[in-house]
Amino acid sequence: MHAISYPDYGATPTMVDLPEPVCPPDGAVVAVRATGVCRSDWHAWRGHDPVPLPMVPGHEFAGVVSEVGRLVKGFAVGDRVTAPFVNGCGRCTWCRDGHAQVCPDQEQPGFTRLGSFAERVVVTAADFNLVRLPQAVDFVTAAALGCRFATAYHALTTQAQLARDDWLLVIGCGGVGLSAVLIGHALGARVIAVDPSASARDRAAELGASRVLAEADPEVIRDITQGGAQVSIDAVGSAATASAGVLGLSRRGRHVQAGLMLGANANAPLPWDRVIAHELTVVGSHGMAAAEYPQLLALIETGALDPGQLVGRVVDLTQASEELMALDRPVSAAAGIVVATVGREATAPPTPAGHKVPRDGREDANLRPAAEAGMTRCVIVNE
Ligand SMILES: [Zn+2]
Ligand SMILES: [Zn+2]
Repeated sequence: MHAISYPDYGATPTMVDLPEPVCPPDGAVVAVRATGVCRSDWHAWRGHDPVPLPMVPGHEFAGVVSEVGRLVKGFAVGDRVTAPFVNGCGRCTWCRDGHAQVCPDQEQPGFTRLGSFAERVVVTAADFNLVRLPQAVDFVTAAALGCRFATAYHALTTQAQLARDDWLLVIGCGGVGLSAVLIGHALGARVIAVDPSASARDRAAELGASRVLAEADPEVIRDITQGGAQVSIDAVGSAATASAGVLGLSRRGRHVQAGLMLGANANAPLPWDRVIAHELTVVGSHGMAAAEYPQLLALIETGALDPGQLVGRVVDLTQASEELMALDRPVSAAAGIVVATVGREATAPPTPAGHKVPRDGREDANLRPAAEAGMTRCVIVNE
């Protein structure tokens, strides 16, 4: 099968011919129809996050089941599916409780095994990790929600218990942050979005933020919210932004840390005096388990939520390598998601960067017949 693979860290990823993947007895092989690329793939390619080599990137995908192992009961060839980027083992305490995103024996396509920049990808513990896609949810949308969108949804709902009419403070309008703005607004919260970039703030306002700020000044936030936000999310991951999230809360507020705290930030200080005096909740968030997908997909099916709004443009899978390497330079989240296709889809008119995909008659609707005909496509998500 064709796949995009890199032989070494930093080496140009190229289209190669690989042996067909071997289906595990409890796993499935999925024919990829759409796959997202995010900065996590770039980090692995650059060697910041060690992976076995050579590696095929890609962990945000949707497609059609092409093979199931003999132990798989709930899925069959032809099923339209997606899967979380963390594949849980399906057996441990956390998996059994519906929290596979923290499974100690997890697999991640594109990191621990070959990913979805390929015609086919393996999903382990298929009964546990595969998620059936409603007909109304197309492959591009499903791939677009596979990582940052699902992360933001889990963070705001399960972790932060965001409620209608809450004030939500979103710090950082990259992929997770803009997803949080869109989801928060859709769930009926009032959203304050913070980002130093004017284009990111403009995009946040388009996606439903009622107020946008260049910096998270606690006094300004207290004024707007009349005492502080009920929920804050740090989508950046730094000592300063995590503290700003905590300081922007009202009494009994909930701060969720979704931005990764790496390197020197791993042991960053927090205003613990405030956490205690105001009885704040500080909670982490990492991806989303398969068990939570049905409620998210139901919101998409009814039109309450449209991750397609974050899709920016469409490119060919053969261009995925170029798009991955382009992340060497900073890319504005306002440019949105880039989608790659092969075959006759490549002749579709290019979509301008930052183009807002309409709720109806979206671009990918034109592309669906080619996808059903067995084309592989690649959704490339800029941060
Ligand atoms: Zn597990
Ligand atoms: Zn990702």
